[in-house]
Amino acid sequence: MRLVLVGPPGAGKGTQAQYIASNLSIPKISTGDIFRANVSGGTELGKLAKEYMDRGDLVPDEVTIAMVRDRLSESDAQDGFLLDGFPRNVPQAEILKKMLEEFGVALDIVLELVVDDEEVVRRLAGRRTCSQCGRIWHVDFDDKKDDICDACGGRLYQRDDDKEETIRHRLEVYQEQTAPLVSFYAQERILVGVDATGPVEEVTQRAMEALSPYTD
Ligand code: ADP
Ligand code: ADP
Repeated sequence: MRLVLVGPPGAGKGTQAQYIASNLSIPKISTGDIFRANVSGGTELGKLAKEYMDRGDLVPDEVTIAMVRDRLSESDAQDGFLLDGFPRNVPQAEILKKMLEEFGVALDIVLELVVDDEEVVRRLAGRRTCSQCGRIWHVDFDDKKDDICDACGGRLYQRDDDKEETIRHRLEVYQEQTAPLVSFYAQERILVGVDATGPVEEVTQRAMEALSPYTD
């Protein structure tokens, strides 16, 4: 299964990606996670990306695409993958299509996580991420009173770009640059919308149902 998750920041892509990828036994490839690992590792790529990420802007396409090409060339991605956070604009989607054609494969399905703006802001404002295992939590929805990851004991942190002003800018960037992907993939006839409101497990169940025609 070759799958892409799209949806605004805070829709629950990273959260659902963890479960869907594990259910399907495919690698989860989150460009935001790869950038953050490079930022904390102090690499050249991290230094370049940080400036854009802190502002809530997209990292330039050539950098992002080269990074994804390298990741998709790794052996664990040959039989399937779940992309979370890529593509994020139509040029990236067009290049992904060509890249997969070169590899002799194609996307099976693009799942759009649908959730309204108010819920997105609530989700982002309370998001906490584990500095050790990368697992995503929410202060209210997961009732996190301490800053400790229940999965691995690591310390949770609030992402620099989850501050109110940056959140607003990221939502604008989503509307301008990423939302057009929905019609792009609808035209390709591989788009399926999933209601992403309600408890995490219910959303996972809806996503798995939407994917079921492709998993047999
Ligand atoms: P969220 O899940 O909140 O939407 P991500 O973790 O996916 O955020 O991305 C965080 C930041 O990393 C983005 O705001 C952007 O700066 C950068 N980024 C991630 N994916 C891409 C991409 N495909 N193209 C350009 N920039 C990206
Ligand atoms: P994205 O990757 O789309 O930016 P995340 O998966 O990081 O979104 O989720 C954003 C925040 O919302 C996190 O704090 C996460 O715990 C929380 N969250 C995700 N899905 C749900 C849900 N169905 N109900 C409540 N909170 C959720």
